[in-house]
Amino acid sequence: MDKISLKDLTPEELAALPELQPAYRAKQVFSWLHRGVSSAAEMTDLPKALRETIDAEYTITHPVMLRRQVSSDGTRKYLWELGDGNCVETVLMQYAHGYSVCVSTQAGCRMGCVFCASTKNGLARNLTPAEILDQILFAGRDAGVRISHIVLMGTGEPLDNYDNVLRFLKLVSMPGGLNIGARNISLSTSGLVDGIRRLAQEHLQITLSVSLHAPNDDLRRRIMPVARKYPMDELLSACGDYFDITGRRVSYEYIMIRGFNDTPACARELAAKLAGTGSHVNMIRLNNIEESPLKPSTPEAVRSFQQLLQASGINATVRRRLGSDIDAACGQLRKKQISQSL
Ligand code: SAH
Repeated sequence: MDKISLKDLTPEELAALPELQPAYRAKQVFSWLHRGVSSAAEMTDLPKALRETIDAEYTITHPVMLRRQVSSDGTRKYLWELGDGNCVETVLMQYAHGYSVCVSTQAGCRMGCVFCASTKNGLARNLTPAEILDQILFAGRDAGVRISHIVLMGTGEPLDNYDNVLRFLKLVSMPGGLNIGARNISLSTSGLVDGIRRLAQEHLQITLSVSLHAPNDDLRRRIMPVARKYPMDELLSACGDYFDITGRRVSYEYIMIRGFNDTPACARELAAKLAGTGSHVNMIRLNNIEESPLKPSTPEAVRSFQQLLQASGINATVRRRLGSDIDAACGQLRKKQISQSL
């Protein structure tokens, strides 16, 4: 039988393990796990015999760093190897408000968006809550900084790994652990309507970002297969309900692709769809990916698109490009690693 992975457990669940009695032991262990130790041998305030028992009876996940790239703007990108040989990427970014980590939620992805490197080799498997958490723990430890913000925007579709992602969100906000509040966490989805509706019912204060990338179903279906399953009016209505239920405004991501979705007509159509929602549009210039015929919009097209949205009362910002010199866009490093090992 597989050993229990301790970092997947809440303090209450740890306290139910026979080895972790009396109860304060579980608290100590939880705190060590969430400081990013690789084994119980590092839990120096536990009796030696207990440390040995923990290492013999349980698993403490710890990724192995395969690569680390540091950008000229300080962004750090990591490629980790997980216990079973799968690889995932993590990006650490510095902002005025602190350090933010962009985590992967799956090894690979099955959404099939045509512009995205993460999905080219399909889905290998879901990450466990501990493996998502480890990306923050080990990146923060490596960089020697305290992480205050998290974005679930790395490889994978978080709502396609719903239960593990929910448990991760719970663990990462615990006071005895990283204690990162829901308002400092953003979850990005390609638009799984069922998942959005389910998430709304959790009443979390996280920010929901939806990858819209087009002003209508026709264009959206050409770049995102998920749009064939969920029409845009259903998606926007689920987002409206998410706002009504949680009180948190949904924000939309919009990749700017040259001559495809960046025309003034597209801007007007998008503005009409989002009118009155109070939503925010986060425009992102497409990151070039090698085999793709899709090209990033010109800076002029980005500017006029933004101005048109703003003129219609839609709050629109253009995302800063951090780490573009180190392939920091979604899935690019992992994909390189996979093609090298084939
Ligand atoms: N599956 C989720 C989260 C991971 S993708 C989602 O789709 O939102 C995170 C963001 O990166 C998404 O908005 C995605 O569309 C965007 N993205 C993917 N490939 C990109 C590229 N080549 N250039 C710019 N953004 C990209």
